[in-house]
Amino acid sequence: MVKQTITIPSQALPVSYTPDVVVVGGGASGVAAAMAAARNGASTLLIEQRGYLGGMGTAALVPAFCPYTDGEKPVIRGIGLDLLEKMKQAAGEGFLKQYKEQLDWVPIDVETLKRVYDEAVLASGAQVLFHTVADQVLLEGDRISGLIISNKSGRSVVQAKLYIDASGDADLAALAGVPFQVGGEQGELQPGTMCYVVTGADKARFYQFLEETGEHKQLEQTVVKAQQNGDLPEGRKRISGMAWISDSVVGFNFGHIFGIDGTKAEDLTRAAIEGRKLIDTQIRFLRKYVPGFEHIHLVHSGDQIGIRETRRIQGDYTLVVEDFLSMRTFEDDIARNSYFIDIHLANATSTMTIKHLPKGQSHGVPYRCMLPVGKSNLIVAGRSVSSDRPVQGSLRVMPNCFAMGEAAGVAAAMASAAGLAGFREVPIAELQRNLIAQGAWLGEQPGKAYVAAAVGSVTFEDECK
Ligand SMILES: Cc1cc2nc3c(=O)[nH]c(=O)nc-3n(C[C@H](O)[C@H](O)[C@H](O)COP(=O)(O)OP(=O)(O)OC[C@H]3O[C@@H](n4cnc5c(N)ncnc54)[C@H](O)[C@@H]3O)c2cc1C
Repeated sequence: MVKQTITIPSQALPVSYTPDVVVVGGGASGVAAAMAAARNGASTLLIEQRGYLGGMGTAALVPAFCPYTDGEKPVIRGIGLDLLEKMKQAAGEGFLKQYKEQLDWVPIDVETLKRVYDEAVLASGAQVLFHTVADQVLLEGDRISGLIISNKSGRSVVQAKLYIDASGDADLAALAGVPFQVGGEQGELQPGTMCYVVTGADKARFYQFLEETGEHKQLEQTVVKAQQNGDLPEGRKRISGMAWISDSVVGFNFGHIFGIDGTKAEDLTRAAIEGRKLIDTQIRFLRKYVPGFEHIHLVHSGDQIGIRETRRIQGDYTLVVEDFLSMRTFEDDIARNSYFIDIHLANATSTMTIKHLPKGQSHGVPYRCMLPVGKSNLIVAGRSVSSDRPVQGSLRVMPNCFAMGEAAGVAAAMASAAGLAGFREVPIAELQRNLIAQGAWLGEQPGKAYVAAAVGSVTFEDECK
């Protein structure tokens, strides 16, 4: 709790960079945004606080990419799909052989992915600045006139024409005074997870165990048994995600740390410490209860706790659960989403909220969700765009973030090239044409607003404890 404030002397700061477009945050949305902006001719600077790209997919070791398809066809295409294929190609023969045809739930080979991102972003012509935090914005009316960055070289100002907030937490928008909401009405938040990678597992033995026992790979019966024996803490009665990177190396997304606000350093600190402690408990559980895991060794835990949810900005349009359920299509769609609503329990005794769309179906993601109210040259891409909480629980996954990022980047380059005042002046039909020409998929009839016939026939409910 802050008890007092101190006024610091005013300071003259050097201007360090003057790109057309600056992107803050190098996760899925920021990587795609920077690549798209640069490929479309804008001089582009990508700022990332860590020493590598990938956001939650690398820093937090989220073990797999969520589905790119609606169960029938790829919905997320363009840069996101291209990066997935590049990772498969670069991960080695064994990995490629196993996942060549797969587009849904492809495991993340973290060290390969970091390199794929480096190469792809640099090849696009964008410049990358690592180990740098964006921590203040300068405002002139409804415009951002500068961004203050801090790194080992000191503090300096980046002056760009267009600003893309891909920080995952809407840091830039919050610094610029854009209204936002964190979590639910009572401040409830999805829990964090400290993901990790183990080696020394035996895949064949594990699958034989599943077959012999009828257990599912989320190990429901085994997890419950261990919870009853006091070998695992209370909470979700299954493993959220297990991703086999090779026959002996596995990534885990398992268990929850509750009550973490990812915009608070103290919470992140507590979560890091509790998360590592929980991993130790889980490793003991895996060795003791799960055939094939007797001899595992922990090789890496996340550099930070995985954060599913923080701020959602108030944008020109807020995508709500009724839009999701009715599979609504908007005139200004810049992406389609078919991933299910996937809200993890806010505390150890509550439930998951899961809602799938029918196979082959998706809804539109309008451009206006990315436009923060009251700011002209700022756009937000990624998990913090303007939506209600249920929709955030669906939109938040990495394939969607690639698609939103790509749209933000193309829009920024268009605005820069045409000398537009900001993102609202970007002609939507032209943006959609450009996205489609560059590989994105915007549905069967892009630009035509309609509500699918399924409206009203789908109810929103808890399907899964
Ligand atoms: C435990 C867990 C499991 C998940 N499982 C899956 C899954 O299986 N598949 C899937 O597709 N998705 C999954 N997700 C969701 C997905 O990983 C994230 O929602 C997604 O990565 C969000 O992308 P983003 O680009 O919006 O933000 P992020 O990935 O969070 O990237 C933001 C980047 O911005 C940087 N940054 C932030 N603030 C600043 C600043 N002020 N200055 C400089 N840099 C900054 C960060 O370091 C980070 O690199 C999971 C998430 C979690 C936490």
